Parts: sequence; C-alpha cells; structure tokens
Amino acid sequence: MKIGLLNLQGGIYEHIYLLKRAFVEEGINGEIIAVNGKNDLKEVDGIILPGGESTTIGTLLEKLDMVDSLRKFILDGHPTLGICAGAILMAKESIDFKVGRVDQPLLKVMNIRAVRNYFGRQRSSFETLLKIKLLDDKPFRAIFIRAPIFEIIDGEVEALATLNNKIVCAREKNMLITSFHPELTNDTRIHRLFINMFR
Ligand code: GLN
Repeated sequence: MKIGLLNLQGGIYEHIYLLKRAFVEEGINGEIIAVNGKNDLKEVDGIILPGGESTTIGTLLEKLDMVDSLRKFILDGHPTLGICAGAILMAKESIDFKVGRVDQPLLKVMNIRAVRNYFGRQRSSFETLLKIKLLDDKPFRAIFIRAPIFEIIDGEVEALATLNNKIVCAREKNMLITSFHPELTNDTRIHRLFINMFR
C-alpha cells in the first residue's frame, strides 16, 4: 500500500508519524510517498490532502497544473483523506462563514458545501471530545484550527461526527474528511479507518 501525502503546504511530518504507527497497528506493509506534482500520483494508491490554507493550496495546485489530474485520481476511486483545508478543496462548493462566497480553486469531488472558518479565527482554536461513527466508543480528542463545517448537498454523503449539530467528519465512497486535525493527536484511529478503505 503506497499512500501519497500532498506536499504543497501544511502538516506533513505529523501524518507520517501517525501513518507509520497505523501501519504497524494494522499489520500492513505500507509506504508513504510525498506528492509534489501530478506525475507522483502514478506512484500512489491513495492520498492525504493535509490542512493548511485551502486558497493557497488550491492556487499551488493550479500553478502545478494538478487540479484535473488530482480530481481524476480521486474520482477514479482512490482512497482520499482530506483534513480541514484538504477537505475544503474536495468540496463541490465552499463559502466563508463571514465573507460568504469567495472564488477559490476547488477539486469539486465531494457532495458537500464547506463553510470555512465556521468556528472563528486562529485564536478561537479549541479541542473537544467527539464521538465518531465507525470508530469504537472511546471519544476522539479533536483539535479545531480555523476549521470548517460541512453541509451535505447530495444523497451519498454519510455524516460520521457532528459538533453543535454541524457535520465535522464525513465519508462519501472513497472519500473521508475531517474538519479537525487527527495528526496533531496521538490517536491513530482516523488514519487506521483511512488505511482500511484500501482493503
Ligand atoms: N481556514 C482554513 C481554510 O479555509 C483551513 C484551516 C486548516 O486547515 N486548519 O483553508
């Protein structure tokens, strides 16, 4: 199993650390490959789109002429984990909670509308314990940093966790998204859930 990590902006090493542990825990011989351009997509079976700033990552994807190939890669069914800004990029629509519509490059692969910065600015970052469907009963320590919430705009999306009745974790076919940052915890369960989507 070769997992790609989009390497344009945002947390990379934290994902590598958790993925390596998740491979051991799941008994999988996995490899992690940095994805710096569209040719790298040929080398991987699935991909993680990390958090950061979705407008910046989107602009970099455009500059690298990667939007169409990454879009096709995901629509072809390769397991994809989008974290925060990564999840926003996967959305068919995005709006900013305060500003409303902002034109930004999106991959438009998932039937959700991302409402960006829903919980406020950097200084409003927080953590909370979340119950997440498909994981065991133990609550997940979820870290929210300028995080979005997601609204379903078509039928096949399954909400996996909500906070104040807003969706913060969801799945659709080969796509899994969180608005919080599992890579900033010691908890491998989201990464293990992702790894199991390859089986
Ligand atoms: N607010 C950022 C955005 O809109 C996402 C923040 C994050 O990834 N932690 O892209």
